[in-house]
Amino acid sequence: MNPWINATVLENRKWTNNLFSLILNASISPFKAGQFTKLALYDEQQEKKIQRAYSFVNAPSDKKIEIYIVRVKNGKLSNLLYKLNSGDTILIKENASGFFILDEIPPCKKLWMFATGTAIGPYCSILEEHKNTEKYENIILVHAVRKKNELTYLSLLKKIHKKYNGKLKIQTITSREKDNNSLFGRIPFLLKNNILEKKIGLKIDAENSHVMLCGNPEMVKDTCLYLQKSRFMKKNLRRQKGQITMENYW
Ligand code: NAP
Repeated sequence: MNPWINATVLENRKWTNNLFSLILNASISPFKAGQFTKLALYDEQQEKKIQRAYSFVNAPSDKKIEIYIVRVKNGKLSNLLYKLNSGDTILIKENASGFFILDEIPPCKKLWMFATGTAIGPYCSILEEHKNTEKYENIILVHAVRKKNELTYLSLLKKIHKKYNGKLKIQTITSREKDNNSLFGRIPFLLKNNILEKKIGLKIDAENSHVMLCGNPEMVKDTCLYLQKSRFMKKNLRRQKGQITMENYW
């Protein structure tokens, strides 16, 4: 049993016309950094519950719940969530779900975290929480977005970066406009052409690396296939340990 409980909207932070973060207050059970919950609202006729899964952006130790959302064209829930104001009430699951957590990832020299779009959320939670990270020598966070104004959590990530004393590297990527501080293109292209690893100064290898992939299912699939074929890495499953841990965002 995982009941729905009420959550109060404390803030609806609008980053762009399509990207926003809901800050919520609700008496949820403890969760692990990297996990997701579900949000729901009733449709306009108040008959049908519309629900979707969303990752926590906040660290588990932070009592304010933060959820990062993209408005999906014709999306039933995201367009309703976008219109919420502080004081409004929505539904949230009492218990979190998911295995995109550091407990599932064995120690290694290089932990690579790849995200597209709003899938930066679980990494913010994991890195902010700063627990279980001592088992990795280097952590490399790669965030790919269409345009630079979608790098909405970069200022938070720069603050987090300072707490890691050089162990954390952050690389941004844009694909639809050039940005002086970002690489240009898509993750699989930048891997195949050795552009990303050259910029970071570290290689992705099956012996010493683990790769987390989160976001656009096509990115997750294409990158996973490339890592399996060209870097001889295997999916990290509960029954058989490997070097690729994945989470599709839709
Ligand atoms: P996105 O399309 O996921 O783009 C984010 C980044 O991923 C872009 O740099 C994009 O490059 C790249 N990308 C796209 N396909 C890729 C692939 N096959 N391999 C590697 N990289 C790839 O856009 P977003 O702004 O984060 O998300 C917006 C859209 O996502 C929404 O409009 C909606 O269609 C979808 N979405 C749906 C749901 C849902 O529940 N149905 C939830 C969230 C998002 P390019 O610029 O080259 O495409």
